[in-house]
Amino acid sequence: MAQLGASLFDYSIAPAQAPAVVPGGWVVVPWGRGRRVGLVAGLSDRSEIDPARVKPLLSVLADAPVLPPPWFELVRFCGDYYHRGLGEVALPAIPKLLRTPPAARARGSAFVRARERFVPAASTQAASLPPPLNDAQRAALDALRAADGFAVFLLHGITGSGKTEVYLHWLADVLARDARGQVLLLVPEIALTPQLGAQVAARFPGHSVAVLHSDLADGDRAAHWLAAVEGRARVVIGTRLAVLAPLPALAAIVVDEEHDASYKQQEGVRYSARDLAIVAASQRKVPIALGSATPSLESWHAARRGRYRLLALPERVGGAQLPTLDRVDLRGRKLRCELAPESIDAIGEVLARGEQALVFINRRGYAPVLACESCGWLSRCSDCSAYRVLHRIAATRPSRYRLVCHHCSAEQPVPRACPDCGNVDLTALGRGTQRLEEGLAELFPGRRIARLDRDVARTRGAAQKVIDAAHAGDVDILVGTQMLAKGHDFRRLTLVVAVDSDGGLFSSDFRAPERMFATLMQVAGRAGRDPLRGGAGSSDVDDGSAVDAAPLRGRVIVQTRFPDHPLFDYLSRHDFAGFADAQLAERREVGLPPYRFQVLLRAEAATQAEALAFLAQAKGLGESLQSSATPQGLACATADSLSGEAVALLDPVPMAMSRLAGRERAQLLVEANSRRPLHVFLRAWLPALREVRSPARWQLDVDPLEI
Ligand code: ADP
Ligand code: ZN
Ligand code: ZN
Repeated sequence: MAQLGASLFDYSIAPAQAPAVVPGGWVVVPWGRGRRVGLVAGLSDRSEIDPARVKPLLSVLADAPVLPPPWFELVRFCGDYYHRGLGEVALPAIPKLLRTPPAARARGSAFVRARERFVPAASTQAASLPPPLNDAQRAALDALRAADGFAVFLLHGITGSGKTEVYLHWLADVLARDARGQVLLLVPEIALTPQLGAQVAARFPGHSVAVLHSDLADGDRAAHWLAAVEGRARVVIGTRLAVLAPLPALAAIVVDEEHDASYKQQEGVRYSARDLAIVAASQRKVPIALGSATPSLESWHAARRGRYRLLALPERVGGAQLPTLDRVDLRGRKLRCELAPESIDAIGEVLARGEQALVFINRRGYAPVLACESCGWLSRCSDCSAYRVLHRIAATRPSRYRLVCHHCSAEQPVPRACPDCGNVDLTALGRGTQRLEEGLAELFPGRRIARLDRDVARTRGAAQKVIDAAHAGDVDILVGTQMLAKGHDFRRLTLVVAVDSDGGLFSSDFRAPERMFATLMQVAGRAGRDPLRGGAGSSDVDDGSAVDAAPLRGRVIVQTRFPDHPLFDYLSRHDFAGFADAQLAERREVGLPPYRFQVLLRAEAATQAEALAFLAQAKGLGESLQSSATPQGLACATADSLSGEAVALLDPVPMAMSRLAGRERAQLLVEANSRRPLHVFLRAWLPALREVRSPARWQLDVDPLEI
């Protein structure tokens, strides 16, 4: 019997209840002085617990759907692989409203209410006829269609190559062939689901579409989840948590933008939804397609080795060309509003032609730090190793500002004078999106400028408003963070300026170049997507106004202090494969993922010394476990290893951001050449760690994304 908590608990069943208690069913059990909803993990004749201490279950939730056995398999895999309890995986996967025990005299049940409340995602436009696919799209679709049982496809399509169209054709085909079948479409961003929900609904007018993400109101989440779990919704679109929705008739999975870091949960059970989706597909023997213009190096490597089938869409639809890429060397240049003169001129030209420009900067807020130039005071966060960022919080005059820490969210008013020396002239250093927006308004008076970042998106519907306005042509210049990079298809956009591109070049995190390349490629991919504007098409434009100039190709300007860095060479050739293969060669050389497998033990405590002491002890325990390993035990790991040293425990070090919200943080990296010895080791090590008495708190991150 599974109580939705840490692990499994036993309850006794009265004879009258027995017929209704089935694996996957829902029950109410006594818990402390209260009651809780539990899921039945299995039935047994006996218990290892003293019979006198086994409590009877209270009731059975008769109108709840029985959860399918394959879902338990997935949950079990997830618990084993990430070394967490079954309940820790299962509990968050179930909407809160449905796991609340019914009140003693409740009228109606939560399940009945959720069923009544379900309103499938609706299309905002009339059902549209899909465009005929081009040759590359058709070839990819044929390969997907031919899949029989489990297979992983990596759909590598450049930006604007029509990947979505391939998914939608394929999923329609799956639904047509399997009268009950359900398809799961995972997307990285909540901001993208309404748009996609409507688009998909328009294409599948006969099917109900459920949408699952963490931003839904509790009632909607329960309604959509239940529709998915009961098979009423044939199409399920969602963010990472949707991978844990128990779909009884799962027939195909798509993971869009599979490289996106938001597929990795960063708290609790730190699962990768992309990886779990592959496991689910394999358990259910169904095909899965991962799509991206810039696949993760893990997926790329698997495709290169033939474990995944690579499907390529090498061209933009309708013959639109990829944008040209120019590097602007920032060294010794005088900038206005962070922009080099070339960038300002380019924006001016685009606007004069009635097109749109996008200015990309990966820094939200007004200015990254507030400084006193007379004594050197900086707006450090008192609780983190980071600066508090100056934010403009009201557009009213006089504008009001606050200092906000992006890591612990602490806020404070802007001091009237320097806290150290009393100087009243404090200086905002650098620029974030807000200040860039302000500066652009001065550089281009009368132009319509819109900003999109997480601060804007905090207001429900605000992000969509900006996106809609951009689509409608009501925006001249878009300013924003990588939120703007994802998936949007702005037809009038012909110029992208990346203000500060150097962040990822010299980071201590080995994945930083991969992320930077992907981000720049995605942002660059917003430019010149319209075949009529960006390519060899005719000059009759959609809105009827003729374009007199020759067809325009999109243009990307990358401002950098390191114009000779090889990353930019690959970028300007749009050569993802070249970049990825070069990165893989480097990683192989130095022994990094995907050639090696990593687990991170993170510890936090009041002081760095305490955190490091815990990790030192953990390392000692790990090493003694390895040296005392028996032939049947850990030594099986040695056989797998190439170096003879199966599992390597590195030295504990403070984390790159060593202080967060008043806690000091440190980490210990554990590595092996294959997964098996690593997990064998963890199964022996974790129980030992739980016995350590230390003020430090710790958690494990399997396949960590950020190091
Ligand atoms: P990607 O996801 O690869 O960046 P999309 O799937 O968003 O590209 O496609 C870009 C645009 O091209 C979309 O507006 C889509 O409707 C359109 N499109 C896709 N395939 C075709 C096609 N075969 N013919 C005409 N338009 C297409
Ligand atoms: Zn000062
Ligand atoms: Zn802070």
